[in-house]
This record gives sequence, C-alpha cells and structure tokens, in this order.
Amino acid sequence: MWAELIAVGSELLSWDKVETNSLYISKQLNLLGIDVRYKSIVGDIESDIEAILKISVDRSPLVIVTGGLGPTEDDLTRKAVSKALKRGLVLKEELLEKIRKRFESMGKAMPKNNERQALMPNKAVVIDNPIGTAPGFAIEHDKSLVICLPGVPAEMQRMFEEGAVPLIKKRIDASEAVKLRIIRTCGIAEAKLDEIIGDLYAIDKNIRIGLAADENGVDVRITASKGSEIETTRLSAELEEKITARLKDYIYGFDNEEMEGIVVRLLKEKGMKLSIAESCTGGLISKRITDVSGSSACFDRGIVSYSNESKVQLLKVPPKLLEEYGAVSSQAAMAMAEGVRRISNTELGIGVTGIAGPTGGTSEKPVGLVYIAVSEKGKEARCKGYNFAGSRDMIRMKASQFALDIIRRTLLNIQ
Ligand code: ATP
Ligand code: MG
Repeated sequence: MWAELIAVGSELLSWDKVETNSLYISKQLNLLGIDVRYKSIVGDIESDIEAILKISVDRSPLVIVTGGLGPTEDDLTRKAVSKALKRGLVLKEELLEKIRKRFESMGKAMPKNNERQALMPNKAVVIDNPIGTAPGFAIEHDKSLVICLPGVPAEMQRMFEEGAVPLIKKRIDASEAVKLRIIRTCGIAEAKLDEIIGDLYAIDKNIRIGLAADENGVDVRITASKGSEIETTRLSAELEEKITARLKDYIYGFDNEEMEGIVVRLLKEKGMKLSIAESCTGGLISKRITDVSGSSACFDRGIVSYSNESKVQLLKVPPKLLEEYGAVSSQAAMAMAEGVRRISNTELGIGVTGIAGPTGGTSEKPVGLVYIAVSEKGKEARCKGYNFAGSRDMIRMKASQFALDIIRRTLLNIQ
C-alpha cells in the first residue's frame, strides 16, 4: 500500500509558511511500512481541492487530507470531498451535540458557524477531535481510503495517532503490506549500510527492504507487499539472517526494542552497576536509563556536571587537566568517567562532554564535537570523539544514543 497526501490552505503556498503536516504524516506512515508517493499543496479554492481529490482517489489506495475543516473558511474540504466523491452531506446529530457541549464546557454558546462541522459526507466515519472543535472523518471510496483531518498541527497529530492509525492498520491487514521485522542499528551511516545490504533489496518482488534514519541510528525495515503468510515469513526470516550476518555488531535490537532497554537488560545480566557523568547531554542519558522500569538494580547515579568547578568538586577532575586540554576534550571525558565510577564505586562509569551548539563552537572545537569516555573497573579509561550534525536537540539525542551504544558494546565485549 502507498499513500498520497494533500495539504489544504492558501497560506501554505506563500513564501513564509512551511507546510509541515505532510512530514509528520510521512514519518508515521513509514513506520507502518507505507510509502508516500505523491503530495500536493492546494489553496483554499473549492474547485481546486475537488480536482486534486478526484485525481488522488483514482490512483492512490490511501489519501490523507489536512486542513480546510475549520468553521471560518466555509468548510471547503468537506464540500470538495462531498462533490469529488459524490456523497451528500448529512447532519450528524450526535456530533452537533458534542461540539455544542465542548463550547458549553468552556462557558460559551456555540457560534452558528460551528454547526457546519457536524455535517459529514454520507457514510463517513467520524474521527474525534479531543483538543479542538473540527472533527475529522474517513471514507471508503472504491479502492481508496480517504482520511480528512484538521490543519492545526497539534490537532492533526493527535487525531492521526488516535483515529486514523487504527483505520489505516485495519486497511493494511485487509490488503497487503505486512510489517515483518525491524532491524535497528547504531553507529553506521545510511549510505554505508545501503552499500552493505543493497544487493538483498531485489531478492523477492513481494518483499521490501526500507531504510529509515533518525537520531537513534538507521532502522532496516522488512515488509511484505503480498503473497502467502508462510512464504513471506520464511523469506523475511531468511533475509533477517543474511542482514544480521552482515551488520553484526551494529545491530542493537529488533522491532520496538530501544537502546536504553537493551543496556539495562545487559547490565542486569552481568550483575554490573553503572554511573554516568554528563555535561552537554544535561542528564538525558540518565533520563533514558531511568525511563526503563527496574533500572534501579543497575543504575547507581547520574551527575550533571556543567561547570568546570563542578567537574573538579564532584568528579575530582584535576583542575590542571581542564586548564591544559579544556572541558571539551577526551582527557576531560575520561577523567569524568573515572571520577564518577570511583566516587560511586560502580563497575562502569561513563563521561560525556561536548558542544551541543548552536553557539560556543570554534574552528578547533566545532559545534557537534562530543567526547564519550568509558571507565571500567581495573582497566584504563578510553574515549571516542564524534562530530554530530544537527540542531542542539539532535546533537544531544545522538550523543545519548552513542553513549548508550558504547555501554552496550562494552558489556558485550565489542570494540
Ligand atoms: P482546520 O481544519 O483545523 O480548521 P484550517 O485549514 O481550516 O484547518 P487554518 O486556520 O487554515 O485551519 O489552519 C490552522 C493553523 O494550522 C494555521 O496556522 C495553519 O497555517 C496551520 N496549518 C494548516 N495546515 C498546515 C500544514 N499542512 N502544515 C503546517 N501548518 C499547517
Ligand atoms: Mg486553512
């Protein structure tokens, strides 16, 4: 199955407004194993919306429209859908009641305009809007599923997740694309990964291998488009084995497994305790570890040590070392790792220091430079430097993921 997206709104065609709804939807659809093949932006002109809708339902099994459901703009989307799909609009009493109640709960009377929002194309399934007035809806039309959601990003996202995804999943089950397996990797670039497993993509015409990269690494997704369940399951298992053999240590987990969960499990298995000293990640690594229920069995402490003084005071980093190499250096990271391990008397200590940006970089130490050090009891500390790209948030996310991956690798004796 593939999808087509339509964003309605004249402002989205101007030079100063970026259309973002389709980015969110594409990501969510990709997670379900659905590719987006077309997307359009159309202004608030009813006949234009109608025209693009006709083309879309003709060629795409899933069409998602956002925007134009508000009470102020004369509900262009609703009308255009009704015309394009040739369905009359019917007043849904229960919807009218809901919208009225929503206004009442805010101590207001429902404006006449909002009554329109209770009109739905015939045989549409209503998608509730828990945080706004404009409800969405879904329509089965010939071979397509058409889903219409409001344009306000927060409302759209909530409704997509709660209302649209179940409908789409049902559709997938009934038709084809079955998600078979996600192989999760960290520490290898998408292009490199593509090079290593690229020849496997064409192994069977019914099986697809897709790559999806984010701050946590690159996921390899195996999906089946059609064919018998036994056959696709067998092929998927075969592929998984081949991919696993090639990517080996880069693989940290499968399907929904997350790095922090893996790390906590490994620590418990080994009966080891961990402590962390964080500078540029501001506690994010500790947060992710403590997100895992039961992590108290293996996590001793996380110290957020931002200033030089605190590194000296709390982690016993020698002031001279900071003077000589600076707080963002492999030497500082190693001293932090060793310091936090010693004071907490754990088997494993981690030290992270870097420049998350967007300010504070120099030509010698640019934004994105992060040092991650490991100190193991009875061994010399070691450190790796990275140059992460992206916003402050992304750099911190990546640093936390790599730090957790280093813990995983250490526990599995992988270099
Ligand atoms: P609704 O159906 O929720 O009423 P609408 O199109 O009638 O949608 P607008 O007032 O046009 O409502 O849009 C609400 C806000 O959401 C505006 O700030 C608009 O720019 C923004 N918005 C709408 N669609 C998108 C989109 N595709 N990407 C980013 N922002 C969007
Ligand atoms: Mg609009």
